[in-house]
Amino acid sequence: MIEFKNVGLVYPNGTEGLKNINVKINDGEFVVIVGLSGAGKSTFIRSINRLVTPTSGTLLVDNEDILQYRGKKLRELRTKIGMIFQNYNLVKRSNVLKNVLAGRLGHTGTLRSIFGMYKKEDIALAYESLKRVNIADKIYNRADELSGGQQQRVSIARVLTQKPSYILADEPVASLDPPTSHQVMTYLKKINKEDNITTIVNLHFIDMAMEYADRIIGMRAGEIVFDGPASEVNEKT
Ligand code: ADP
Ligand code: ADP
Repeated sequence: MIEFKNVGLVYPNGTEGLKNINVKINDGEFVVIVGLSGAGKSTFIRSINRLVTPTSGTLLVDNEDILQYRGKKLRELRTKIGMIFQNYNLVKRSNVLKNVLAGRLGHTGTLRSIFGMYKKEDIALAYESLKRVNIADKIYNRADELSGGQQQRVSIARVLTQKPSYILADEPVASLDPPTSHQVMTYLKKINKEDNITTIVNLHFIDMAMEYADRIIGMRAGEIVFDGPASEVNEKT
């Protein structure tokens, strides 16, 4: 469970990224955050794994205030949260296997990863994860040989090898064409339902949000201006 209690975030230059956010996200939900560029969607999502740190309030993940976390606690938090980004964040000159296992090994600097000496069970896990997003045939291709949609599927597989409790996707389809965007959203939704992984996705298109979200949270200027099921979104919001 994720709970924001009076959470505010003021950036060093004085910009208010979040203003008094109060919201609870229950286990297993598929939530889409919508809003125009600059609304605070990214700040909201990045607060949850502490890529940015709110400056006021309480932010609970599994009943612990993560705003107090540092060091080991912070690394543990990030292990149970899988992140997906607009630009995939793959190491372009590495192959798909190495990219996918980066999630498993936590970092790419280990001797094993440098020399590609993976344990059999890690390779099996990578293969299974890639199969779930239908891209296992590219396991030995370099990341930069793949299309955008394929790279985003690899980044989903990377998150799966982490066996996360949460997936946070920050504009995961913003660089993709409409058919590919639908494909990626369909995989995210399928994984959410099959593995019961609480998933929060930022999108700037309301129509896409309405098609996939169980619940939509609308943001504007750092505040939540709508929170409800997709069926309640109407012309006014
Ligand atoms: P969105 O994801 O909805 O586009 P963001 O969360 O990126 O919105 O941004 C929310 C607000 O915070 C915007 O006004 C943005 O310009 C500002 N902002 C984001 N990151 C920073 C930063 N590192 N320093 C200062 N202001 C920032
Ligand atoms: P998808 O819709 O499945 O994401 P595309 O239709 O965009 O894939 O790509 C079709 C094929 O072209 C893929 O097999 C992919 O490997 C290849 N391809 C796409 N972009 C590139 C690229 N920049 N370099 C090499 N191959 C590419």
